[in-house]
Amino acid sequence: AATVREYEAILDRIAQEELRANIALKLTHLGLSFDKETAYANLERIVAHADRLGQFVRIDMEQSSFVESTFEIYERLRAAGHENVGVVLQAYLHRSPADLERLLPLTPNLRVVKGAYLEAPAIAYPEKHDVDNAYVRLVERALSGGAYVAVATHDERIIRHVQAFAEREEIGRERFELQMLYGVRPALQRRVAAAGYTVLVATPFGPDWYPYLMRRLAERPANLFFFLRNILRR
Ligand SMILES: Cc1cc2nc3c(=O)[nH]c(=O)nc-3n(C[C@H](O)[C@H](O)[C@H](O)COP(=O)(O)OP(=O)(O)OC[C@H]3O[C@@H](n4cnc5c(N)ncnc54)[C@H](O)[C@@H]3O)c2cc1C
Repeated sequence: AATVREYEAILDRIAQEELRANIALKLTHLGLSFDKETAYANLERIVAHADRLGQFVRIDMEQSSFVESTFEIYERLRAAGHENVGVVLQAYLHRSPADLERLLPLTPNLRVVKGAYLEAPAIAYPEKHDVDNAYVRLVERALSGGAYVAVATHDERIIRHVQAFAEREEIGRERFELQMLYGVRPALQRRVAAAGYTVLVATPFGPDWYPYLMRRLAERPANLFFFLRNILRR
């Protein structure tokens, strides 16, 4: 309940400051590891609060063991009439193309990512090349299928590909946005925004920065160097 109140306070603050921002949250922070009902009830409170303020809530996607319950919670929210909520598809998961087909009838708001967790080859593509191909296929299908797509990647080749695809297929720029992490490829972020695309910069918030940092380091050990350099500069 304290976590729910914290999110409500953040939503209030975003509204007060009239920020063009939204929150993204993890269902395990709302109790999903213990009980799906609790996670649903907590999320429903946050989404309803956000709705009263005209705001949107993104449900992050976590380890593969939570994927099914996360989609079920999303579908239940949509069935209950909540439109201001979106989910994430991880391109590395073999199941994602089927999940996309399952979600498309809802005209979902989908963030597509490559996937950040260590998963077994039976569950996720181990090779970057396969993940990149799967990523592009998911984004193209999601756009063609009527979804709003948040293309969350720093992969410039993929970003250019998606922009060209949208132009070729006459898919308007209001149908998708680019999302990148705060501090990662800032020049690319500015360039894409200057070219007239919507860009969302994602930044972590709260006391759980340690697991976040560890995931970013596992993805890219070079980040340790950036992290230490920034700490030493303070
Ligand atoms: C807005 C946002 C939300 C996300 N949400 C989720 C989620 O809900 N669930 C989930 O599993 N994953 C999530 N991710 C993480 C995602 O799955 C990838 O692990 C991460 O984005 C790195 O992959 P990439 O698409 O940038 O491509 P990559 O092929 O990994 O990287 C492409 C290039 O980008 C640069 N780059 C990438 N990452 C970094 C970095 N951390 N530091 C410095 N340079 C970097 C490098 O130049 C690299 O060559 C999210 C990512 C973003 C941007």
